[in-house]
Amino acid sequence: MIDTHSHMQDAKFEPDLETVLKRAKQAGVNSIITAGVDLEDSRKALQLSELHSILHPVVGLAPYSDQLQIDDVLTFITEAGKKIVGVGEIGLDYPWKKRPEQVEPFRKQIQLAKDLGLPVTVHSRSAGKYVLDILEEEQAEKVHLHSFGGSKQDLKRIVDLGYFVSITCRVITSERLQNLAKILPEELILLETDSPVLSASEGRNEPAKLVESLNFLSKLLNIDAKELEKLTEKNSKRVFGQNI
Ligand SMILES: [Zn+2]
Repeated sequence: MIDTHSHMQDAKFEPDLETVLKRAKQAGVNSIITAGVDLEDSRKALQLSELHSILHPVVGLAPYSDQLQIDDVLTFITEAGKKIVGVGEIGLDYPWKKRPEQVEPFRKQIQLAKDLGLPVTVHSRSAGKYVLDILEEEQAEKVHLHSFGGSKQDLKRIVDLGYFVSITCRVITSERLQNLAKILPEELILLETDSPVLSASEGRNEPAKLVESLNFLSKLLNIDAKELEKLTEKNSKRVFGQNI
C-alpha cells in the first residue's frame, strides 16, 4: 500500500517515529508521502525523507500557513528539484480564513510544479469549486486532491478533469465519503491517512491504519483487497512517479 498523504515530520511523531514506520511496513505500507505545510515544515519533510527511504516528500505552502513565506517556499521548491515527488500541500481554505491572499501563492505553486514536471497535492476544505476553477485556469497537469470532501457535482468535474482523489480513513465512519468513493472511477482512487490527523477513531492516526481503510473500501466497492491494493499503488505511481 502507498499512503499518498501524511505529515510524518509532525511533532506528534517525534517520540516514536521509528516504531511508527516499522508498524507501517509490517502492515504492508511500503511507501509514505509526507507533505510540508510551510517553509520550516517542508525543510523537515525533506530532511526526514533523506533519513528514511520509505518516506517521499512533497513540499509547499498550505493556504492556512503564513502566506508571506511564498517567495522563500518557491525558492526552496526549485532548489529541492528532483529530491521531491510533488508540490504540496497547496490550495484554498475558505471556512477558517476568508483571505484572498491565498490565491496568488496557490497559482504560483501550480505554475512552478508544472515547470518542474511535478504533481500538486491540493487541500480544498470547503473551497471545492474555487480550487477547481484555479486548477483549470492554470492548466494544472497532474493533480492529487487530498481529503476531498466536496459535492457530487465537484466530483463529477474532477473525474472529467482526470484528477486523482485520495480517500481518508474517515470513509469508515462517514456515509457521505462512502457515497463519494462509490462514484469515483477506479483509475483515480488513491489512499491516504493524513497522519497524524483524520483517524477513523480517537487519537493519533498513522500510516499502518491504511490497511483499515483498504479493507473497508474493498467491501464497499466490491473489489478484492489485493486487487484494490495493486490498483491504488499503480494510481499513486501514475501521480508521483515510479520511484515512490
Ligand atoms: Zn495534510
